[in-house]
Amino acid sequence: MSAAELIGDPKIDKSRMGMPIPILMYHQIDVLPPRPAAYRYLTVSPKSFARQMTWLKRLGFQGLSIRDLMPYLFGSKTGRVVGITFDDGYRNVYEHALPVLQSVGFTATNYFVSGQVGGYNAWDEHIGIPYSSCMTKTEMREWASLGHEIGAHTVDHLWLAQVDPPIARRQINESRDSLVDMLGQAVTSFSYPYGDLSPVVRDLVSEAGFSTAVTTRRGRVRAHDDRLLLPRRIIRASDSSLGLLRKCVTG
Ligand SMILES: [Zn+2]
Repeated sequence: MSAAELIGDPKIDKSRMGMPIPILMYHQIDVLPPRPAAYRYLTVSPKSFARQMTWLKRLGFQGLSIRDLMPYLFGSKTGRVVGITFDDGYRNVYEHALPVLQSVGFTATNYFVSGQVGGYNAWDEHIGIPYSSCMTKTEMREWASLGHEIGAHTVDHLWLAQVDPPIARRQINESRDSLVDMLGQAVTSFSYPYGDLSPVVRDLVSEAGFSTAVTTRRGRVRAHDDRLLLPRRIIRASDSSLGLLRKCVTG
């Protein structure tokens, strides 16, 4: 199937009303680590990422942060939109993805592990994921100052459903508070580390006052979905541009 057949006519805006909205999930944008690195598929090369964003732009999609996507998800706006998210606050996203986002005029949300701003992916060291730096506070602030969103992703990147609720509550609340301190602006979006959640964890995120939370559940967002359990589409190293497009318009 061609790209044109997949997406239809961009001018017929009314046809978008009630349409499910895709939220893309990226992690690292960098040269792929050598095999057999754990979770190697979660790194997308800078060239592929640039190609994917250019494709979306050419096909009439507007890439938006979750904050900017809110009116489309639950409000009155309609349009050909796609959420762009990154988990973990990697420095290679600042280096390789930010210039691309700027050039196509898209916004995106990056979910930071507050205890590792200026640090590295220490939480996955024991499972063999190669070392990768996280953005510094200055880089994170620049990300925000350019109109992109900062979301919270706990202090230490824990499996939230596996720890006692008081520990989960502290991880959720303290990550938000420390990002707010660093940024001087509200932080209203959350991402569950490893997609690990339970009804209790979902309610803790609600209690903490977050407006939205994204999961690793596969799918597109429907109008009546719980805004604290938003599904996403994982973009893998092996996804072609047409494969990415298919994830935007199906499922
Ligand atoms: Zn993560």
